[in-house]
Amino acid sequence: MTIEEVKKEIEREGLEKFYENYLEWVKEKNKEIKGFLFFCEDLVKETIKELKNKSKSLPLYGIPIAIKDNILVKGIKCTAGSKILENYIATYDATVIKKIKESGAVIVGKTNMDEFAMGSSTENSAYFPTLNPFDKSRVPGGSSGGSAAVVGAGLVPIALGSDTGGSIRQPASFCGVYGLKPTYGAVSRYGLIAMASSLDQIGPIASNLDDLILLFEIIKGKDNKDSTSLDFPKEKTIKKEINSIGIPIECFENLDEKLKKLILSKIKKINIKIKEVSLKYIKYGIHCYYLIMPAEVSANLARYDGIRYGKREGIDLWDIYKTTRRKYLGNEVKRRIIIGTFVLSHGYYEAYYLKAQKLRRAIYEDFQKAFKEVDLIIMPTSPSLPFKLGEKTENPLEMYLSDIFTVPISLAGLPALNVPIGFMNNLPVGLQIVGNLFDEYKIFEFAKFLKD
Ligand code: GLN
Repeated sequence: MTIEEVKKEIEREGLEKFYENYLEWVKEKNKEIKGFLFFCEDLVKETIKELKNKSKSLPLYGIPIAIKDNILVKGIKCTAGSKILENYIATYDATVIKKIKESGAVIVGKTNMDEFAMGSSTENSAYFPTLNPFDKSRVPGGSSGGSAAVVGAGLVPIALGSDTGGSIRQPASFCGVYGLKPTYGAVSRYGLIAMASSLDQIGPIASNLDDLILLFEIIKGKDNKDSTSLDFPKEKTIKKEINSIGIPIECFENLDEKLKKLILSKIKKINIKIKEVSLKYIKYGIHCYYLIMPAEVSANLARYDGIRYGKREGIDLWDIYKTTRRKYLGNEVKRRIIIGTFVLSHGYYEAYYLKAQKLRRAIYEDFQKAFKEVDLIIMPTSPSLPFKLGEKTENPLEMYLSDIFTVPISLAGLPALNVPIGFMNNLPVGLQIVGNLFDEYKIFEFAKFLKD
């Protein structure tokens, strides 16, 4: 499903008729993959009414969009996939939501995710796992698995996800769609439930490249409510020639032969110089990420204490803290909070957290060196194809390794796009185009070549 196709249908049937049929259809279809956590039917009706007084030339006029359930939509439940927020109703719109509403989009529902965006399969959702639209015995990836699955299954043309260490790109790859992790700061995080604030970014997911670009254009830009957001440099949106592409040897060394062949054959078809580059620190990406991220998680999740938000249980203050958190936070979330408090504690801070910060800088410098030689870098998005439900749930370390190619980019704050490039064993395969800071438009340019 593309924006163009929906626009034509709306023109033919009119908004009201379109949504009458669409809502019935999408609710039925969703049962097959469980990508939506819940639908926002009242909001849909309200939006359609409002759209009657608005210009049809709005870029997303009447277009259905799915929103990951860690992005706040005023008056709508926002659970972040957690039981602790099961009863939490958002009191304001995230900046990205304000922007898409102004563009005429219709928010159809909130999508499933790993609890507080911690995971790579949606199996950490406190509600239910989402299924891969290409093979229902497999995971859709995560943590934005719900958003990627509903786009991959053709239930909506576009969706919003969030990416801290790969949560847009990896599920996009598993579900055969485009997914962009923007440059850190390119999109406002105001109204995004925080996981690890120095890494979190909201980004678009779409089945069609032009639709993804359109959605990115709408949501990007500086926001006074997020002090880490930045104006997207105008000169960076001007089309520039791409002269060379870098292939990091470290990423392809131990990669599955068939996967490697498929990725390289796709790139070699394009008439652009390919150069080998070396990113010698990215092998420490996982180590570094799984120290910095939990440290930030432990600070951000301290606010779920049973007092200010969501569920509360217990008899006095201390008991409320303990009981609420023990009962309503999931195991993976607890694991990360505990690791985070440990690496920040006196005596261990220097040994773990500080060292990880230095490593983070080294990874960034590595990329900068490579970008002196090439315009863009190509990497696999995931080391494996979509795996079976339950395959990695017992072994968190193995689950963490799914992020091996995505986390270094997040640590460096760089933009990266998953591009669906074909199938292996009837399962989707994606590759990642990585750019330097604010090189999203260069990435899009190269993605266009891959399409043809
Ligand atoms: N899978 C990674 C994790 O579990 C990335 C999550 C994300 O990007 N939100 O941390």
